Amino acid sequence: MSQYDVIVIGSGIGGLVTATQLAVKGIKVLVLESYVIPGGSAGFFEREGYHFDVGASMIFGFGDKGTTNLLTRALAAVNQKIETIPDPVQIHYHLPNNLNLKVHRDYDKFLQELYAYFPEEKKGIKGFYDECWQVFNCLNSMDLLSLEEIRYLTRVFFQHPLSCLGLLKYLPVNVGDVARKHIKNPDLLKFIDMECYCWSVVPADLTPMINAGMVFSDRHYGGINYPKGGVSKIAETLVEGFIKAGGEIQYQARVTEILVQGNQAKGVKLADGKEYFAHRIVSNATRWDTFDKLIDKHKTPRKEVKWQKNYRQSPSFLSLHLGVEAKVLSDNFECHHILLENWNNLEAEQGTIFVSIPTLLDPSLAPEGYHIIHGFTPSSMEYWENLSPSQYEYKKEEAAGRLIERLEAIFPGLDAGLDYMEIGTPRTHRRFLNRVNGSYGPIPARKLNGLLSMPFNRTAIKNLYCVGDSTFPGQGLNAVAFSGFSCAHRIAVDLGY
Ligand SMILES: Cc1cc2nc3c(=O)[nH]c(=O)nc-3n(C[C@H](O)[C@H](O)[C@H](O)COP(=O)(O)OP(=O)(O)OC[C@H]3O[C@@H](n4cnc5c(N)ncnc54)[C@H](O)[C@@H]3O)c2cc1C
Repeated sequence: MSQYDVIVIGSGIGGLVTATQLAVKGIKVLVLESYVIPGGSAGFFEREGYHFDVGASMIFGFGDKGTTNLLTRALAAVNQKIETIPDPVQIHYHLPNNLNLKVHRDYDKFLQELYAYFPEEKKGIKGFYDECWQVFNCLNSMDLLSLEEIRYLTRVFFQHPLSCLGLLKYLPVNVGDVARKHIKNPDLLKFIDMECYCWSVVPADLTPMINAGMVFSDRHYGGINYPKGGVSKIAETLVEGFIKAGGEIQYQARVTEILVQGNQAKGVKLADGKEYFAHRIVSNATRWDTFDKLIDKHKTPRKEVKWQKNYRQSPSFLSLHLGVEAKVLSDNFECHHILLENWNNLEAEQGTIFVSIPTLLDPSLAPEGYHIIHGFTPSSMEYWENLSPSQYEYKKEEAAGRLIERLEAIFPGLDAGLDYMEIGTPRTHRRFLNRVNGSYGPIPARKLNGLLSMPFNRTAIKNLYCVGDSTFPGQGLNAVAFSGFSCAHRIAVDLGY
């Protein structure tokens, strides 16, 4: 007996957007979350008066126009809205060869800053970013729903034929090829690598043009906007809307098995032995967690085995959640920074450092007179395995010390101004975010044709769908919201709505 129409495993933003979109259609949805709060990588934790975002803090998708403002839209669908604070600068880059520049919300201001560093490449810079705008304008002209649903595709094609053809052209293309068409200067090409790496965690040659079109343009269109009260407000507010729409959510409900009969998903089994059944099952866990852990290994579809050859797990992060005295930050500081001293270390273990200071936008997240600095750098699980508890602690302290020393380049006096420090490693990400090896998500194992090989929401197991960053179009809150809209649309059509 199916108690629910749809069960969603996980309450990350991908899972919650799917759940809310279905619930407002009158579909009976149960969300099962293993942790104590919703949000996954967009969750939070509190220590000594500090409210720390666990991961995401540079938030796209909160614009008030166009169609790519998917977080605004997801909340509006369940009659919710949250207050956001506009960020005037997306990133302040601190890069090798004294390349020290800011990506302003104002597009022309950003271009002028880049032209000043590379005057001979003015035409190339404009040509490259203009192509990104072409992709964005196509995406931003149509409703973003399931690309697996033929009636939607036909409708959207007849409504926006040029946009569709534009997107089709860029679907198999990577950023590196477009960048080299316009730009020759090796330092500028390195900069484009970093522009990609800071959200795709791969250089331009492996980054799909569709994603770059979104990121490189929307930051100047809808802009980067920080949710007042912290990033966790997004998930909390979606849950509020979901419950009002008739949805049900359970926390500390860890799914250990997806029940499959023949080749058809029927339900789920929890760690406490309870079983729930539904017409459709959605997994918001990563594809590796879904197909290697929740389903009998012998039932892993061949399609998934092939996908795992094309995509590998990106590293996780070493994260420093710091509470610091306000005097550490000078006036006019930006919220997000990227620091790299040597281009050879762009992709290296603990190479590039990402920094976020959300209290510059929302001071209520820290005690008065203090700020939060979240510094994180890519780090792999191998680096943290096979250690005794004392070796692990020592290694954490040592790595944190190195990061703080490097961060002193941007924040002189950081060490002396420290009030609180929590260190997270790939083991922490694995444990609390429930993600295989704490991975940030799938990255191409080799150069692929843009986004062509990224799977949509249906899987080879009947009635089982995937949503979140291991489905089209990949990582990032706005991207997984896209995946959520598309998954819910596909399921609603399959259920006859
Ligand atoms: C350090 C860091 C910084 C980031 N910075 C940004 C940024 O600035 N901007 C941005 O847009 N993105 C950023 N991201 C990426 C972004 O946070 C993710 O791409 C996105 O949140 C992933 O959402 P998701 O829905 O796919 O899954 P997740 O957030 O991984 O959520 C999945 C949920 O499913 C639950 N779950 C998993 N397995 C089970 C199970 N068996 N049973 C029950 N529940 C289960 C998990 O507990 C979790 O709550 C960052 C990520 C990290 C880690």
